[in-house]
Amino acid sequence: MTFMEKNIFAEIIAGKLPCQKVYESDDILAFYDIAPKAKTHILIIPKTEIITAQEVNEKNLAIFGKLFLAAKEIAKKLKMTGYKLHMNVGEDGGQVVPHLHLHFLSADYDGSQL
Ligand code: 5GP
Repeated sequence: MTFMEKNIFAEIIAGKLPCQKVYESDDILAFYDIAPKAKTHILIIPKTEIITAQEVNEKNLAIFGKLFLAAKEIAKKLKMTGYKLHMNVGEDGGQVVPHLHLHFLSADYDGSQL
């Protein structure tokens, strides 16, 4: 899996493709999933080039924490007291888009569709 010019999330970050934005900071963007697997289904992504969670290291560790900070802020914004976080890691882990992303899902997500 490689980070490509054509990576759909890279195009969203660059503003070349539209998204329904929920949260944005200097490092993070969050937007509604185009094919929701729960009543609320949001994708939280870093604006930097990280393909999978398997790339985590001492240098980029903070960006992983920022995904969770974004989830907290989104929950507050949407007044959700509980939610589910899901991450597919690598093609063999079911990851389709080669850009790190954390799925933020409402509690009706049953854990089987991603
Ligand atoms: P993965 O299977 O890689 O963990 O999840 C990729 C997610 O990205 C899927 O839930 C899919 O519906 C979503 N997705 C794919 N293309 C787009 C797009 O162009 N826009 C948005 N908002 N979501 C997308």
